[in-house]
Amino acid sequence: MKNPIGLQGLLTKGGATAAETLIQSKAARRWLLRRADRMLARSLQAQNFRHMPERMVHMRRRAVMNLLYTLDHGIERGTVGRRVLRSLLSTFIRNVLLGEEDRMQPFYEKFGRYPPTFLTISPTKRCNLQCNGCYAGSTLADRSTLDYEVLTRLLKEKRQEWGSHFSVISGGEPLTYRSRGRQMLDVVAEHPDEFFMMYTNGTLITEAVAERMAQLGNISPAISVEGWEAETDEYRGAGVFRKITEAMERLRRHGVPFGISVTATSQNAETVLSDEFIDYFYDEQGALYSWIFQYMPIGRSYTMDRLVTPEQRKWMLEREMKLFYEKNRFVVDFWNSGALSFGCIAAGRSGGFFYVDWDGNLSPCVFFPYAVDNLYDMYERGDTITSVLETDYFKRIRAWQDAYRGDDGEKPVRNLFIPCPIRDHYDIAKRIVGEHHVKPIDGDAQIALEDPEYHRGMKDYGERIAVELDPMWEKMFPPQETVAQESTGEKQRIPG
Ligand code: SF4
Repeated sequence: MKNPIGLQGLLTKGGATAAETLIQSKAARRWLLRRADRMLARSLQAQNFRHMPERMVHMRRRAVMNLLYTLDHGIERGTVGRRVLRSLLSTFIRNVLLGEEDRMQPFYEKFGRYPPTFLTISPTKRCNLQCNGCYAGSTLADRSTLDYEVLTRLLKEKRQEWGSHFSVISGGEPLTYRSRGRQMLDVVAEHPDEFFMMYTNGTLITEAVAERMAQLGNISPAISVEGWEAETDEYRGAGVFRKITEAMERLRRHGVPFGISVTATSQNAETVLSDEFIDYFYDEQGALYSWIFQYMPIGRSYTMDRLVTPEQRKWMLEREMKLFYEKNRFVVDFWNSGALSFGCIAAGRSGGFFYVDWDGNLSPCVFFPYAVDNLYDMYERGDTITSVLETDYFKRIRAWQDAYRGDDGEKPVRNLFIPCPIRDHYDIAKRIVGEHHVKPIDGDAQIALEDPEYHRGMKDYGERIAVELDPMWEKMFPPQETVAQESTGEKQRIPG
């Protein structure tokens, strides 16, 4: 029998109200944090069937704990509202972070592996801004939008077929979404047992939008910033930085947890990972998390010049480690943090995701813009979303991921600081795309595929980053270091 006052017990429906009250007390939160840490240590250890190095397991535990520490800080400051807290407990923690295995068991029994944990969906290509080098090439005039009926079917289907209760919403600007009289927050309202993280430029978060997000409780916006005011306004347009900080103030006041999403380029990498910048957005503005996306040469007017250099990427990794371990910041880099996710999570990997764009194109990842199928065609054929997981294209990418992680047990895990088939090992991605005759999702993806200079540039980039990051990987994760099965990990100090 489960301990009735265990963390799991508190997160049952009945326990959620008690937990909500309990969480208002600082002492109770500290007790819960200690329990959560111990529980995580045990469960991550038990799930480490791949025998990943102990330090990697510890890193995952640390990532979740850093998120909980910042949440604790937000509750203390009063920037996480009660309603949001209730939804975080009942939807995000209970349905997303815990009990995953039970929910996903039916899929496992049918397919012999676990399903993806989430989808990234861009419901519209429309955007009220027109940023330089936007990965989506969006404009306000763009009409490409996922039909509401299709979007809502997709959300229901992944819950029913995979037990997945988490969606990442990207764009375009999701707050410009309109279909059959519904806006994005109407969709969020219709799926209360789903938790949404929504990438947004933040400029449309008015008082009414912030208030509605607080009432809904199951959404957290991740707001794009490109640096300080000068850099953000230069990239996104005059006055955007001011609008973003105003939006953050509204979100804080209404108790909506939010994060930042930063595109690191060769021009701003040092700024966006400086203590000053991170402290400003976490401590003054109240952000709970940050996603770092290194500029990827896809989309409007892509250019190799904005890519962070291999030397900058190494520096970024060292900085990210410091922020992660020394300042308990939840700072996750979509590429450098590959050890946290045991490598690439695209193409519907167990625990991973794939990408659905505004036209219904189904591709392995937002940054891997070559689609194997289309949602509308798939539904017309009478298939469900699960069918895309069984395509040879997705299976081929997953086979590469498995081999890279050394899942066959023949080779040790390769460098997970450079885990990406399309960014760090471009030859692989190009070969897979060619072998499976899949479709570029737009003209830019087509041009990139056919451009020999792009191919040379990406290949050269991959080789140069391996020179920088392989020694760091070997030092941190020596091949012979595997996890001690009986160990449950060291004790972690609870900050604050
Ligand atoms: S394809 Fe690259 S960017 Fe996408 S999930 Fe894999 S590693 Fe990350």
